[in-house]
Amino acid sequence: MVVLVTGSSGQLGQSLQFIAGNYPDVHFVFRSSSELDITNKANCEAVFSEINPDYCINAAAYTAVDKAESEPEKAYLINVIGTKNLAEACQKYSAILLHISTDFVFDGNKTTPYTESDIPNPTGVYGQTKWDGEKAIQAVFENYFIVRTSWVYSQFGANFMKTMLRLASERDSLSVVDDQIGTPTHAVDLAEALVSIIKTTVLNPKNDNYGIYNFSNEGQCSWFDFAQKIFEINKIAIAVTPIPTTSYPTPAQRPKFSVLDKSKIKNAFGIAIRNWEESLIKTT
Ligand code: NDP
Repeated sequence: MVVLVTGSSGQLGQSLQFIAGNYPDVHFVFRSSSELDITNKANCEAVFSEINPDYCINAAAYTAVDKAESEPEKAYLINVIGTKNLAEACQKYSAILLHISTDFVFDGNKTTPYTESDIPNPTGVYGQTKWDGEKAIQAVFENYFIVRTSWVYSQFGANFMKTMLRLASERDSLSVVDDQIGTPTHAVDLAEALVSIIKTTVLNPKNDNYGIYNFSNEGQCSWFDFAQKIFEINKIAIAVTPIPTTSYPTPAQRPKFSVLDKSKIKNAFGIAIRNWEESLIKTT
């Protein structure tokens, strides 16, 4: 079984490379942005023709949430046109697409966890382009898994955990927002969940599980809680002050609440999900 991974230098891409050795029956082929530019349709076709994958995990994306507000065309090109190119290549080469989307497709006005059937209403360019990317896949074919996730961090790449650890080495105190509630997701746990989806699908060729799924770690917290736990686990003594979002304005508006309900993915694929604090301990 051949699994092509796009955007292999990103957090999720590197996490998939990290676990690939645990799955000797899966032949992973990793392609970074310099080896496969998903916005280039001819490039996508050439790579699919060469590799002929059974599955494609799209770990490539434009993920700069605030910068997207000032360069919407670039975000659209990667998150919508690039995603569409991959869906079309998957359709042409009979591959199944696993695509990653985001909690930022929601406006955050709910107070209970978002299910897959809740209607998106993005508050910023990044979330809008990710939702448009989902719709672009759905317009091409049905053989897709769209996995919405949230607050991704890992030992790889740039993320909130690494930013907190860097800032703690530079400052004596920090202020972190405490009125945005969500769930951190360890990218390695997400990578394992994606492989579980593939393994279940391989065993059930008459697949009727295609569609949208939520995946994050279990539990919920604020960014302030997340920061405090990062420092506690790493035994870093630093004063952390909770502040409201209004005291930390950013170009993109973020959902106040974006906890995801994971019942569907757990039931469909038998995935056991760790609590976010437990996964954080394992990362550091
Ligand atoms: P990263 O930003 O770490 O990685 C994205 C990767 O995409 C980078 O390696 C980048 O390469 C690559 N890329 C960008 N443009 C192209 C292109 N045109 N062709 C091919 N590759 C390209 O993202 P994450 O691993 O954190 O995110 C994985 C997925 O999870 C994304 O779909 C994201 O939207 C989603 N997600 C992420 C969250 C988070 O908190 N990070 C939260 C919720 C969802 P290069 O570095 O060379 O530009």
